[in-house]
Amino acid sequence: MIDPHGGRLIDGVLKGPERERRIAEAEHLPALHPHIDQVYDAEKIALGAYSPLSGFMDRNTFESVLASRRLPGGLPWTIPILFAPSDPRDAAVLAGVKGGDAVALVDGAGRRFAILTVSETFPYDKGRYAEATFLTKDPAHPNVADLLAAGPTAVAGKIALLHRLDLPVGRFELTPAETRQEFLRLGWKHVAAYQCRNPPHTAHEYLQRCTLDREDVDGLFIHPVVGRLKKGDYLPDVILACYEALVNNYYPKDRVLLSSLTVTMRYAGPNAALFYAIVRKNYGCDRYIVGRDQAGVGKYYDPFACHRIFDELPIEILPVRYPETFYCRSCGGMATTKTCAHPVSARVSTAQTLIREKLKKGEPLPPEVLRPEVAAILARGGEILND
Ligand SMILES: [Zn+2]
Repeated sequence: MIDPHGGRLIDGVLKGPERERRIAEAEHLPALHPHIDQVYDAEKIALGAYSPLSGFMDRNTFESVLASRRLPGGLPWTIPILFAPSDPRDAAVLAGVKGGDAVALVDGAGRRFAILTVSETFPYDKGRYAEATFLTKDPAHPNVADLLAAGPTAVAGKIALLHRLDLPVGRFELTPAETRQEFLRLGWKHVAAYQCRNPPHTAHEYLQRCTLDREDVDGLFIHPVVGRLKKGDYLPDVILACYEALVNNYYPKDRVLLSSLTVTMRYAGPNAALFYAIVRKNYGCDRYIVGRDQAGVGKYYDPFACHRIFDELPIEILPVRYPETFYCRSCGGMATTKTCAHPVSARVSTAQTLIREKLKKGEPLPPEVLRPEVAAILARGGEILND
């Protein structure tokens, strides 16, 4: 099985008497209230999903990622993992905190779930952050908007996790240590990760099947990102129910593992594609499926830049890259721009916007677009967050 990024899986989860002692200690520490995005990030850091990061980035690491898309040691890394508190309750603590201090991090339920040992605090340039990471400073870009709302000072330091989070689809959430163990149990040597954030349509399934059919792939790890919701997003339990329907009705049980990845979606085109591949490497995957315009939003990214970045910044994972994929009426099946000779008019679109439009109007979704079991779940309505 592939080694974690940097060679070692980070484990910041406290256990036993040390955990008890630090839970008691946390009650008396000054507290900070991270935004939900950083609550998720803090837990993932402790669980090793962001290995080799063991905490929120310091200035040196942040600057290195912006300048070279690499960590100071040279390992590729494309997305800053910063904690820049913006909660008004944090102003007084933030004004006094310095390197060497320990602070408690409070989750949305008011629980002190982690201790952050501060290494330094530093101001950072949001414009440079946005341009290097999201390749735009446009405040209409969802992650740029989040960044503009973040605080002006980043707090760096190592995370020690006291409590696991209570997640919306927690029963699907596996840790990197758990998926690695599961892949071993299943006897999978080479595992392909599938990154997604929407219910599966036929083009998604086609990429999964083509990948699983490869000689050098033993198992498929379907790992939808289900972090903080934005207007128009599918609810996490709906996404997982749709995938469960696909996996249970169509795939061999010993070939596919379904789990959720609760982190806030980064739309950064190529930079996000590489970041999400690194995360899956930590979960034990050495193959990574990259379709057209992965982790894109709007028209900010060249749809195939997410393919090229794997040549620019090799990370030991084999990218399994696909051209545009669709159902072609003339071919009578799934096809790609590489395998189909017919005009665009012969294609049945699987675009999410079209699927959503049809759902809204109560129109049936044909089997060329969705499996009936998936269509039935989506047809129940109320699956999309509207406000
Ligand atoms: Zn065709």
